[in-house]
Amino acid sequence: MSAILVYISTTGGKIKRSSLEVLSHCRDQATKNNMELAAVVLDNDAAAFADQLQQYGARKVYTVSNPIFKSHLNAPVTQALLQIIEQVNPRVFACASTEGTKDVLGALAAKTGGAALPDVANFEVTADGVSALRPVMAAKILSQNTASGELVLVSVRSGSYDATESPTVADVTDVAFTPADFAAVLREVISSTGDKVDLSEATVVVAAGRGIKDEEGKKLIDDLAETLGAAVGASRAVVENGLFPATAQIGQTGKVVSPELYFAIGISGAVQHTAGMSNSKVIVAINKDGDAPIFQMASYGLVGDLYKILPLLTEEIRKAKSA
Ligand SMILES: Cc1cc2nc3c(=O)[nH]c(=O)nc-3n(C[C@H](O)[C@H](O)[C@H](O)COP(=O)(O)OP(=O)(O)OC[C@H]3O[C@@H](n4cnc5c(N)ncnc54)[C@H](O)[C@@H]3O)c2cc1C
Repeated sequence: MSAILVYISTTGGKIKRSSLEVLSHCRDQATKNNMELAAVVLDNDAAAFADQLQQYGARKVYTVSNPIFKSHLNAPVTQALLQIIEQVNPRVFACASTEGTKDVLGALAAKTGGAALPDVANFEVTADGVSALRPVMAAKILSQNTASGELVLVSVRSGSYDATESPTVADVTDVAFTPADFAAVLREVISSTGDKVDLSEATVVVAAGRGIKDEEGKKLIDDLAETLGAAVGASRAVVENGLFPATAQIGQTGKVVSPELYFAIGISGAVQHTAGMSNSKVIVAINKDGDAPIFQMASYGLVGDLYKILPLLTEEIRKAKSA
């Protein structure tokens, strides 16, 4: 039986939500096409994730445990995934489109001779490969792509599918792995001190734009984010003027986010920004210009001065939460 193999990314002792979304969609595709669903997880203690992967319907789980996977490094991840691809011989290899998989997908395609479809918004397994929709030109249009061959590799944008459980009993294999002697060695990971919640995986994002003029405005954003337990994002305008760190930038040249709830505060809605947040489920826009393009995609809109609206909004949310 041919197989779909899903690479599961982990971070801080948890499976990334985006990986579970891909696994859920691949489970449906495997059922539809009478294929086997396999998952591979690389981590310092990969076996710890096997139970959760069974909950999401993986029939075969390959766990590769090694301290080298404590932090993402392209070379050992590529080496381990090649080893598992050789073992499973899947027709389709799928993973979430994350910063970590961007280079890995290309490297795997080059080494296996497979066809790569990176950063797709959705995909279907076909008789001879994969058919997918890819957002192009800053997600202004969707392009229809097909790839055929013995192996097709796909990475999927976060928020494209829901992560849904469908428990099964999996055949779990612990795979022995010896990292090659890599030239690059990871000495230290320096993370941004302000990142209380991981932006790419957050379920609520409070994002600031050029309407935030100063430290006072930044504090209003931080207060709202803290009240909601949200991650803080930003448009490029306020990253370039130094109010927010580059790690907070959302958009074409920043991060792609797909939260349940996205606040666009003082953000006009340029395509380069919306390219990174259009998969958000509910969008709340606050802007003093009623004609700002962001309102065209917002689920809820508040027209007014953010400096007046935010203190009231945060206070009301605080009250509602403590009631
Ligand atoms: C190649 C390229 C890549 C890019 N990549 C990105 C990217 O990854 N991410 C990104 O964000 N941008 C990116 N940009 C920049 C993008 O084109 C826009 O310039 C940027 O997104 C605008 O940010 P903004 O909405 O915060 O600012 P503006 O467009 O200036 O909008 C500010 C908004 O705030 C509102 N406002 C002002 N004061 C208040 C107030 N007191 N109360 C309420 N509302 C108020 C205004 O009405 C306005 O709508 C890129 C551009 C290029 C050319």
